[in-house]
Amino acid sequence: MVNCYNWFVVVQFAVAALGACPDRERRKLLRNKVRRSQTAATATKLHHYQSVARGRALICMTCRLASQGMGTRIGEGLGKRGSEEINMVTEGAKRAAASGRTISNQALQIETHSRVEFKDLTSAIESSIRDSGIEDGLCHVFTPHTTAAILINENDDRSLQKDFDDFLGRLAPRDGEYHHNDGNCDAHLKAAIIGCSKTLMVEKGKLVLGRWQGVFYCEFDGPRRREVRLKIVAD
Ligand code: ZN
Repeated sequence: MVNCYNWFVVVQFAVAALGACPDRERRKLLRNKVRRSQTAATATKLHHYQSVARGRALICMTCRLASQGMGTRIGEGLGKRGSEEINMVTEGAKRAAASGRTISNQALQIETHSRVEFKDLTSAIESSIRDSGIEDGLCHVFTPHTTAAILINENDDRSLQKDFDDFLGRLAPRDGEYHHNDGNCDAHLKAAIIGCSKTLMVEKGKLVLGRWQGVFYCEFDGPRRREVRLKIVAD
């Protein structure tokens, strides 16, 4: 005889198995669990990662920088491991350069490892510009996420990243009271303050930046896999 409680358990199990758990919090936890396990699994695999779906070769930035004698740990500072899986789509860029095209669309794939993280993307963007073959023009940098941002600021002193985090935390405290109640409203607000895109000038194949300036990827709701899109347009 199946009593009411058993039926309840059976229904819950069936609904969960179909991926339609009615409990919003539980659904979120399940999603985060899957995302974290995927992140952990892919973090070690991303070197020389192949994008099968689009047939594009992605080359790990860590390997690339190391092979150039620049094997730095990108985005140390606030990141727990400060790592470095920034992958670049290069095939499209090479074709664009070979065909003399004046626009190059590229993407950087990024892994973040802590809730708040500032990754220095300057070298990765300049590598993309070199691959595009474009010497002079504009580079538009855009991230299609609502809890991350693109920042231009000093990349010499890493302790400044902590000051940014403290400053933004005072403007949008993690445990503040918000109408958007999925637990990451502070991240949305911080991202909105800084903005999800920047346009930079390119001269002689390099970004036009001041002596102390760098381009940062700002993560406010990590760890996650993220994307940065680049559109490099010749004069
Ligand atoms: Zn949200």
